Amino acid sequence: MTSLNNSGLQKTVAVIGGGPAGLMAAEVLAAGGLQVHVYDAMPSVGRKFLLAGKGGMNLTHSEPYDDFLTRYGARRPQIAPLLEQFSPDALRAWVHALGIDTFIGSSGRVFPTDMKAAPLLRAWLHRLRQAGVGFHMRHRWLGWNEAGALSFDTTQGPLAVRADAVVLALGGGSWARLGSDARWVPLLAQREVPLAPLLPANCGFEASWSAYFREHFAGHHLKSVAITTTDGDQPAQRKQGEFVITADGVEGSLIYALSAGLRDRIAASGSALVYLDLLPDWSLQRVTDEVARPRGARSWSSHLQSRLGLKGVKTSLLRELVPAADFGQPLLLAQAIKALPLTLLAARPIDEAISSAGGVTFEGMDPQLMLKALPGVFCAGEMLDWEAPTGGYLLSACLASGRAAGNGVLSWLR
Ligand SMILES: Cc1cc2nc3c(=O)[nH]c(=O)nc-3n(C[C@H](O)[C@H](O)[C@H](O)COP(=O)(O)OP(=O)(O)OC[C@H]3O[C@@H](n4cnc5c(N)ncnc54)[C@H](O)[C@@H]3O)c2cc1C
Repeated sequence: MTSLNNSGLQKTVAVIGGGPAGLMAAEVLAAGGLQVHVYDAMPSVGRKFLLAGKGGMNLTHSEPYDDFLTRYGARRPQIAPLLEQFSPDALRAWVHALGIDTFIGSSGRVFPTDMKAAPLLRAWLHRLRQAGVGFHMRHRWLGWNEAGALSFDTTQGPLAVRADAVVLALGGGSWARLGSDARWVPLLAQREVPLAPLLPANCGFEASWSAYFREHFAGHHLKSVAITTTDGDQPAQRKQGEFVITADGVEGSLIYALSAGLRDRIAASGSALVYLDLLPDWSLQRVTDEVARPRGARSWSSHLQSRLGLKGVKTSLLRELVPAADFGQPLLLAQAIKALPLTLLAARPIDEAISSAGGVTFEGMDPQLMLKALPGVFCAGEMLDWEAPTGGYLLSACLASGRAAGNGVLSWLR
């Protein structure tokens, strides 16, 4: 079905930003009979999507849908209606229709069988081109000109484009070199679009390591540890997993999973205290008993290794954070092994983060994701004000919001 405008021409939609959210909007719009043009500042689309594929492309999660929704925290009421239009099951069916098989990993995460993003993106772009979607690379959107047309900077010079509707899918604020550089923020702020500040999400944190520890242990993984975060004097959240020591602090999956709370705690109090449990499967009593056994002539390191299996970076972290005098007192040492205090000082810069929080607020849009301040302009993807942990929740909501924005345009143009 082709949709015509008042001049009898096929209606045109400009999708600006060729990440997963923009491409999904383009797919819905082309299927709805519209002429769709995708513009992107970079030489090719989907660069962050491809990067996501490098470490194993986690498309979505197979956990019960109610648990899935909880991952969007305070934004659950806004994200749930979007996911109703494109559920985790629908996402998997969509991937299968592109000729890519998926599997569920032991953690419940869903991956393409080959773990890669490139074959999926290739098949998707092929299908979009066949549906008539036009692609315009190296077109940086600069806002609107005085006549109200979309304004682009291109390799051929400035370009003004008119469209019957616009989908903005410009990404968040991390990994600027892949295109999502957040230069859209002032363009929308000028138009009185309500925005929440962009903040790092799924990010690392800074800690104050000694020069010796940094030099010898940056890059070392701590496996099978638990972290308890605190809120004032109270424990807040406990999670088990693994993380990595960096030159500046800590990063990795366990840290990312706790990062929203840690970031907010640091913003409120200047730092965040966490307790590391280096032996989460051992009780304090058992650790105390083992530590208290006679050490003989052995060093502390070999005593802890032979009695508890503690070695390498775990023992060095104890040395780094526990006062030397406490090593002589079994109970204090055992308590440190089970709850080693570490102060995190700052979130790492947003550009290093896996994703960002903040962006266009849901209050500034109607339920179809059209900006109240700019009728006919819709938004999708990570540029909206929500956040979620890693685990496929990011792509799930980006794709679902792209679909919702596409459907929103279709009903608005009708
Ligand atoms: C290392 C890494 C691994 C990740 N792994 C996963 C994973 O396994 N699973 C998961 O769910 N998520 C993962 N993510 C997150 C996921 O990749 C992003 O959430 C997702 O790509 C965001 O999609 P988007 O379409 O909103 O924006 P983006 O993918 O960022 O796309 C935005 C597009 O807009 C373009 N653009 C921006 N400004 C302009 C402008 N002014 N003019 C024209 N074009 C512009 C950019 O060039 C870009 O192509 C990962 C992210 C990173 C960094």
